[in-house]
Amino acid sequence: MVSEITDVVGAWKADPSRDRASLLKALAGVEGVYVPSLYAPRFEGCRQVGLDLLDPGAPEIVEKRTVADLGDWPYPKNQLVPLTEVVHDRLNVEVFRGCTRGCRFCQAGMITRPVRERPAAQVAEMVARGIERTGYNEVALTSLSSADFSGIEGVVADVVDDPNNGGQVSVSLPSLRVDAFTVATAAKIQQVKRTGLTFAPEGGTWRMRKVINKLISDDDLFAAVDAAFSQGWRRVKLYFLIGLPTERDEDVLGIAELGKRCVEIGKQYHQHVTVSASVGGFVPKAQTPFQWHSQNAPRELQRKITLLRDAAKKTKGLQIRWHEPAATAAEGVLSRGDRRIGAVLERVWRNGGTFQEWSEHFDLSLFQGALADEGLSMDDYTTRMRDEDEMLPWDHLSAGLHKDFLIGEYHDAIEEVGVEDCRWTPCYDCGACTNYDLEHVVASASAPAGGSQGTGQGLDLGRPVSVSLSRSGN
Ligand code: SF4
Repeated sequence: MVSEITDVVGAWKADPSRDRASLLKALAGVEGVYVPSLYAPRFEGCRQVGLDLLDPGAPEIVEKRTVADLGDWPYPKNQLVPLTEVVHDRLNVEVFRGCTRGCRFCQAGMITRPVRERPAAQVAEMVARGIERTGYNEVALTSLSSADFSGIEGVVADVVDDPNNGGQVSVSLPSLRVDAFTVATAAKIQQVKRTGLTFAPEGGTWRMRKVINKLISDDDLFAAVDAAFSQGWRRVKLYFLIGLPTERDEDVLGIAELGKRCVEIGKQYHQHVTVSASVGGFVPKAQTPFQWHSQNAPRELQRKITLLRDAAKKTKGLQIRWHEPAATAAEGVLSRGDRRIGAVLERVWRNGGTFQEWSEHFDLSLFQGALADEGLSMDDYTTRMRDEDEMLPWDHLSAGLHKDFLIGEYHDAIEEVGVEDCRWTPCYDCGACTNYDLEHVVASASAPAGGSQGTGQGLDLGRPVSVSLSRSGN
């Protein structure tokens, strides 16, 4: 797609009568390119009620483009080595794209479907050549959930045991599903260096995790934490969200309870352990089943954080860290904002709002003031429930997902119904494969062993999938 864009730009540059409008018009003809100025939204109050196409050559719906088979794209081959120390200063090799675990809050999981694994042999080759070229002594196997990679144990073992690496190259798995993380993987990783371990149960109770479709049981989490502590780790990080749809105080307090149990597990192996629970405020995202739902106002998030902190105080070794609730409100405005938010952001900046992502500089009143000056309100963007038939500002941008699939998932969430990963079960017809003639590229026909996905995730959680049979031929 990049080469198609550069071709268009190249042809435009060769045209002596070129102007900006002709370039934008030509780019709109490249599949997957969105040119906002060719679309004019109409608003009534807080809602978008229409969208006018200003150029008949622009598509009514801009469809995403996606790589069908990562095996055809063994890149980057020459990762740059920075001259100064940077974050993530290591070799990065992408092991797969997409994730169909189906977490309902997760935009990445929804819009990057289906799962496309890189062949394990190609991963091994990219790691070996990358280390050779860069001199790094750490490699991150990246994806949305690296422990789900079919060949994960083999790939980790290949890197750690490669005689060319002299036992000096460590592996980090930045994104771990607790139900796919095993003692064997932990044991192999720690042979070189115990890289940080972060698990993301996201919800404090099983009920909450069914709502968000993060179908990992308490036992899955405890097994993963046990695997880590038993292999020498003394610190694990857990990620949670608060302010989720249908959340009750007991779900928030469940985070402290899970943290306490994890500390107890760690103490079976070490005298001092730290379990750090990071808590972020839920922000609904476009193209997800929760795109219609409201988020908690800062005051409510703060109340829940206080509740949690007080509960966690009783457990030595359990640390609670949290994201500033006011920042969550600003993120909510940006997450589901419409075209009018551009002017709001400019006002924030003109009124001195620089470095707003730094907590010491962040100032919510700048956002509130700018919204008010534009005749808008923060509540309309953050705490307002959207109607299911309301036009959404991103309806003309498609990741292939059928709206009725997203609505069905939203209803299932409210009813606390979980659905299994379509990588290993029948298709739910979300549209991500069928709309683009794609399919999963997964080496393993079954879920990774070691957790509830591999050992009976609880089929009773799923909803019925209708199947129709028809006779063909004789
Ligand atoms: S189309 Fe079916 S198999 Fe493909 S991602 Fe959607 S539910 Fe899964």
